[in-house]
Amino acid sequence: MNEYLDPTGEQFSPDEVDIEKALRPLSFDDFTGQDQVLENLKVFVEAANLRGDALDHTLFHGPPGLGKTTLAHILASELDAGIKVTSGPVLDKPGDLAGLLTNLEDRDVLFIDEIHRLSPIVEEYLYSAMEDFRIDIMIESGPNARTVQINLNQFTLVGATTRSGLLTAPMRARFGISSRLQYYTTELLADIVQRSSSILKVPISMEAAIEIAGRSRGTPRIANALLRRVRDFAQIKGNGKIDIEIAKYGLKALNVDAHGLDEMDNKILSTIIDKFKGGPVGITTLATAVSENAETIEEVYEPFLIQQGFIIRTPRGREVTELAYKHLGRVKGGMQGG
Ligand code: ADP
Repeated sequence: MNEYLDPTGEQFSPDEVDIEKALRPLSFDDFTGQDQVLENLKVFVEAANLRGDALDHTLFHGPPGLGKTTLAHILASELDAGIKVTSGPVLDKPGDLAGLLTNLEDRDVLFIDEIHRLSPIVEEYLYSAMEDFRIDIMIESGPNARTVQINLNQFTLVGATTRSGLLTAPMRARFGISSRLQYYTTELLADIVQRSSSILKVPISMEAAIEIAGRSRGTPRIANALLRRVRDFAQIKGNGKIDIEIAKYGLKALNVDAHGLDEMDNKILSTIIDKFKGGPVGITTLATAVSENAETIEEVYEPFLIQQGFIIRTPRGREVTELAYKHLGRVKGGMQGG
């Protein structure tokens, strides 16, 4: 998977994690784009603040790097509440979850990233916490073992998932607010790149910001990562400023595709062309051909390829468009190289 899109973020060095935190918008006003989502959230937060209630449980879904974690932190800050952060795969046992839940203060946010990866037993345990703010915990062991019910403070569960299709129906039903994040336009990403450059104190021209933005796969995390790499080129090969020449030089050296497509995006397109005559091809067949899991293709790769007009979905499967042939330098129906 594209290193910047790995939802676990495990590939980042501690330095990069710090930089990513520094670049994270802290309030609604700082956050660029996703206007519809933001407008609604502002209303819900303001209402919750007025009533002094916890915000309804909130689910963010959408491809990696679009701002789900950022929004969870912003919600806590706008609610003037604390936040505890965990993730689906980390919460092994109901006991781990109980520890977190009993430590939440009134109106706090509990952020669970990759919530589709909760184990069924932990998920079930979460239901009563979400619904009634109550959990059962087991005390003592052996013959004296018994469960006691504990009341929790009213909290807001914020869940994030790249795979909304994998969320169970009962889990989904327990979120009062559910928002899908969309890919960002080049203009919005250029604003984000400029904001990040000013935080990193590196001067950048508008043209260079647009160049980086246009190659960022609609994703702020990628835009910020490319900016940091181009900054290195500006410091070592240039005069420290990012102008269009150094941006183009750096992006070329980094092998970034003109549309920001990554290796898997290109592999999907070339496989449909080479092995399936341009499609239509079913998602499972395609997944096997590119050795990636079908859900990842559907939820991480395909949405961007469709949004950019490289692929269309037909009742018989996925088809590539003229644009995909053009992008890969192929001729439709002609001799095809590897
Ligand atoms: P996700 O949780 O959806 O994978 P994150 O919230 O971790 O994505 O966002 C990745 C990075 O992108 C963040 O560190 C932040 O700096 C940046 N980012 C995301 N959305 C925005 C935005 N709307 N405006 C500015 N920066 C953003």
